[in-house]
Amino acid sequence: MARIFCVANQKGGVGKTTTTVNLAAGLARVGKKVLMADLDPQGNATMGSGVDKRQLPHSIYDVLLGSCGIAQARVTSEKLASAGFGYDILGANRELAGAEVELVAVERRERRLREAIVAVEADYDFILIDCPPALSLLTLNGLCCAHGVIVPMQCEYFALEGLTDLVNTIKQVRANMNKELAVIGLLRVMFDPRITLQQQVSEQLKSHFAEKVFDTVIPRNVRLAEAPSYGLPGLVFDPASKGAQAYLAFANELVARLATL
Ligand code: ATP
Ligand code: MG
Repeated sequence: MARIFCVANQKGGVGKTTTTVNLAAGLARVGKKVLMADLDPQGNATMGSGVDKRQLPHSIYDVLLGSCGIAQARVTSEKLASAGFGYDILGANRELAGAEVELVAVERRERRLREAIVAVEADYDFILIDCPPALSLLTLNGLCCAHGVIVPMQCEYFALEGLTDLVNTIKQVRANMNKELAVIGLLRVMFDPRITLQQQVSEQLKSHFAEKVFDTVIPRNVRLAEAPSYGLPGLVFDPASKGAQAYLAFANELVARLATL
């Protein structure tokens, strides 16, 4: 059965999508079967996996509204598969922005994704969900079906403040909707060791969250930022780059960590 993880942080632009697509590619690279589910109407993880969000026959929107199953909606990317990093993609586009409103009248609206995932869980080792930058009904759908949350964060002053809201939301979801939900770990991203403040916040994180902080640190690396414009995760675009190597190390750290749980 698949391990299901949300990549979440309600702060915008902190590296959620970059982490999701590169982790998906890294896990695929080490032989895992992976589904990447894009739960963000921006569709960045879809585009960044080489799938045109404007051309999707079905998307995660249809799945949430119940008009089709994941097996029907998932797609593959030829670019990724031919490079040896193939993972399945449950894509998203602007249509998904409407789901929030349309789901209001629907019963068990926060469990729509959970109910749909059951049918494909056995097909994968990992299902990674890229969440939008909000603690919204969409994110709630992700948290309700996940075993754990991976939280990418930049080591900046306000990062810690936002973390409290996220941790509280996770606690509430665990208490009311999904007993299994755990914080898998905090991933330091876009890290620049030359900046003293970043080092300080990194130390604070470690002293406060201890082993919940992943050992792997993702550096700020321009190749990771360039990759999406080619419709590729950085790991596929330039496997030798420092950013790609860090994400591959992160995939391996995650697999090793899960083996000890
Ligand atoms: P949103 O909240 O809008 O969904 P996000 O949290 O998914 O954003 P990303 O889209 O992954 O964040 O990253 C924000 C920007 O930072 C992007 O332009 C991305 O290419 C860039 N970026 C992410 N990680 C790195 C990195 N390690 N080094 C350099 N640039 C990065
Ligand atoms: Mg994103």
